[in-house]
Amino acid sequence: MTISETDLKNCFDHERMAALIESFGKIGRTNAGGVSRLAFSDEDRKAREKFLHILETEFNLAVRIDPLGNIFARREGRYPDLPVIMTGSHLDSVRNGGKFDGPAGVFSSLEAFRTLDLLDIETQHPFELCMLSSEEPNTFGISTFGSRGMVGTLKKKDVETLCDDNGQRLPDALKNIGGDLDRMAEAVRSSGEIKYFLELHIEQMPCLEEDGKDIGIVDGVTGIYREAVTVAGEASHCGTTPMTERKDALCAASEIILALEEAARQEEGQAVATVGHMTVFPNSINITPGQVTLDLEIRSFYQERISRIREKVAGVIEGLVEQRGVRIERKITYDNPPIRFSPVVVNAIAEATEVLGFSSRNEVSMAGHDAAHVNGICKAGMIFIPCRKGLSHCPEEFTTTENIVKGAQCLLKTLLLLDQG
Ligand SMILES: [Zn+2]
Repeated sequence: MTISETDLKNCFDHERMAALIESFGKIGRTNAGGVSRLAFSDEDRKAREKFLHILETEFNLAVRIDPLGNIFARREGRYPDLPVIMTGSHLDSVRNGGKFDGPAGVFSSLEAFRTLDLLDIETQHPFELCMLSSEEPNTFGISTFGSRGMVGTLKKKDVETLCDDNGQRLPDALKNIGGDLDRMAEAVRSSGEIKYFLELHIEQMPCLEEDGKDIGIVDGVTGIYREAVTVAGEASHCGTTPMTERKDALCAASEIILALEEAARQEEGQAVATVGHMTVFPNSINITPGQVTLDLEIRSFYQERISRIREKVAGVIEGLVEQRGVRIERKITYDNPPIRFSPVVVNAIAEATEVLGFSSRNEVSMAGHDAAHVNGICKAGMIFIPCRKGLSHCPEEFTTTENIVKGAQCLLKTLLLLDQG
């Protein structure tokens, strides 16, 4: 049976989409009008229960929850032995974040599944709707927990000893949403099980809005490199220590920060670099800084640009040791290379936007996403929708229901093209 694009579009109900976003936005709503639904919290658990209730009462899907709290709902296809086509996003949020980052993707996928039912479509492949666990940085400093656990790159030993600021252990926090870290290995999906993975997300950049485009076709996700740097100088009385005798750790750290900024600026808009966290010891008004720790981060879609910035900063650091007499220790804390999504998925999204009559542009995600990790075991892709002024992770985060529905229509059309391809 062939269905027309008009039939497909007509099945998506704007009011229902708006109601879903609104009702979940109430779970963890803050006084500032944002949402705090941190992973493994009571709010996270309530959102999961509500989501499961919808799946169980409004759909006929085989629902499964893995030991990490990832939720999968399977819709059988004509050939049950074929690998699955998976789609979804996350329902957790950052502290005082917005109500669209994550839910826009989950509910686009949900409404796509509803449309399949309404039009009585039998797909070739089994389809799986997923809600991935703890995508945002949780209180244990771990992000994309569910997806990295699912592809097997995050191991029990990486997380089992982690404690949050309240002294709670991660394995105990995970129990709050029904998870079990001891059974983490059971969450791993093999590369043959999933054929495609598609995630819709708000853009978190202002490009679509500024360009007046409906859909962002995501070519890939930025590489992210992080390094912890410790600069050890000498703390001494700031009045009695002459300028020529100082080993000021903060002055040395400042040179590193400015060198990083300059190196990133020289990459013609194709890289960004930041020092967003720093501690100064003893941090006192009349003592020269004896020690500084800082975390530097570099992002680019081009590995060679990340490498070039690293080399320039390394050169500056070497010089500082000599010129300022400080000691500098460096430790790589995160090094995720850029990833390119499968051309099969990228082309399917482009074709979907064309047949649906939507405008689009190709772009790169400068934020990390579950899809980037799931890409390790299948062909993944992402659809971006515009969000106001590119704002996210704040109460001002906003996109229109029309944007989400267009994105959901594009998502379903893409899934169907992949299913037939
Ligand atoms: Zn997100």
